[in-house]
Amino acid sequence: MAERTGPVDTQDSDADDPVQDTYSAFIKHIQQCPPCRKDGADCDTAAGLRQAWRKAKDAAVAA
Ligand SMILES: [Zn+2]
Repeated sequence: MAERTGPVDTQDSDADDPVQDTYSAFIKHIQQCPPCRKDGADCDTAAGLRQAWRKAKDAAVAA
C-alpha cells in the first residue's frame, strides 16, 4: 500500500543490516514529513516504514 517515492539513500550502508536500513528510512521520513515531524502523526508512509522496521527486528531476533 505504501508507495516508494525513490531510492533510499543510506550513507552508511556498508553493513548489510536490514534493521538499520529500515530504521534509517523511518527516521528519514519523519524528518521530511511535516505532519509526522511536527505532530508525531503516523501517516500511511510512516506506518508502512515502521512496520517494515518491526519486521526486520523480529527477523533479526528470530535469526
Ligand atoms: Zn509521514
